Amino acid sequence: MKKTSKSTRGLRAALLAVCAGGVLLAAGFGFGIAGWKRAADSLAGADAQIADGRRERQKIQRTLNDTRSQLHDTQSQLTAAQDQASALEARLVQAEQRASAAESDSRRLEEEKSALQSELDQLRKKAAASSAAPSPSSSPSASSSPAPSVPDSAKLIALTFDDGPGDTTARLLDELKKRGMKATFFVVGNRVGRYADTLRRAAEEGHEIGTHTYSHPNLTKLSRAEKAEEIQSSIQAIQNVTGKPVTLLRPPGGSYDDDLKAYCREQNLRILYWSVDTRDWESRSKSSILTTAFQDGPYGIRDGAIVLMHDVYASTVDAAVEMMDRLQKDGYTTVTVSELLRLRCGGGAAGEVYVCAPPK
Ligand SMILES: [Zn+2]
Repeated sequence: MKKTSKSTRGLRAALLAVCAGGVLLAAGFGFGIAGWKRAADSLAGADAQIADGRRERQKIQRTLNDTRSQLHDTQSQLTAAQDQASALEARLVQAEQRASAAESDSRRLEEEKSALQSELDQLRKKAAASSAAPSPSSSPSASSSPAPSVPDSAKLIALTFDDGPGDTTARLLDELKKRGMKATFFVVGNRVGRYADTLRRAAEEGHEIGTHTYSHPNLTKLSRAEKAEEIQSSIQAIQNVTGKPVTLLRPPGGSYDDDLKAYCREQNLRILYWSVDTRDWESRSKSSILTTAFQDGPYGIRDGAIVLMHDVYASTVDAAVEMMDRLQKDGYTTVTVSELLRLRCGGGAAGEVYVCAPPK
């Protein structure tokens, strides 16, 4: 029994040992399984995280790409906008320059306009003053020395014709000759060559020839040298044909300034304006010319008036013929401008502007 008990105990111990080993093995295996499972879980988690990370990265990459392309677009737009801005800026500068040029032009024109207006006002005042002067019979002039053929009491008028000679000038000369009347022609130098015979005839028949410049410019727009050239070349052309000195200037358009007056003073030229503006060049109508010329008041025909017409229109010659008859009937004596200034203004002075010559 003792012996059996000893071997049973040994067997038990061995079994126990085997069991314990099994338990330990199982526990170890269990532990191993759990560890593997945890590791596998971790691995799967890591894989998921990696996949998430990749997705995230792709998302970020896409966003980055989008942002880059947006940036590129924005940069292109910015460049385009900058180009547009530069172009607009350049246009603005140009526009400003143009505006400033236009402004100075407009100022200059305004000054010119106001200068002309004040000249016109002065002329109107002179004309109005002349209309208020007493009649020659009630106040004969002591200082003037009338020509023997023109009595002191004569009503005087100067008919003046600009812009010729022309095709219609010869007929006007015929009509003046028939009536023994004298006129003054302010001729344009560049027409003299073509109408040399007409001009020579006019001078020979006792009409006065003044200059209306060589090419009819606005003299106030020219330099002193250009003014001189325009005036002197026309005087030369006239004198070559008539052989007589030229002492009268009618500036084209009636435009003159202080510089022109100074030049005329130097050159012994009197400047002739007018008191009766028939506006024949505008109406080209005989009846309109006559109505305008014979209007009442300072701008109509009266003693000492200077009448402006243009001998290059047939309608003007038609009107002039009737005007002459009416003037004769009304007791007027037609005289040249120099004769009018001699009888009424002591001959007039170089550089001065004459609008009319009423009796004193
Ligand atoms: Zn003219």
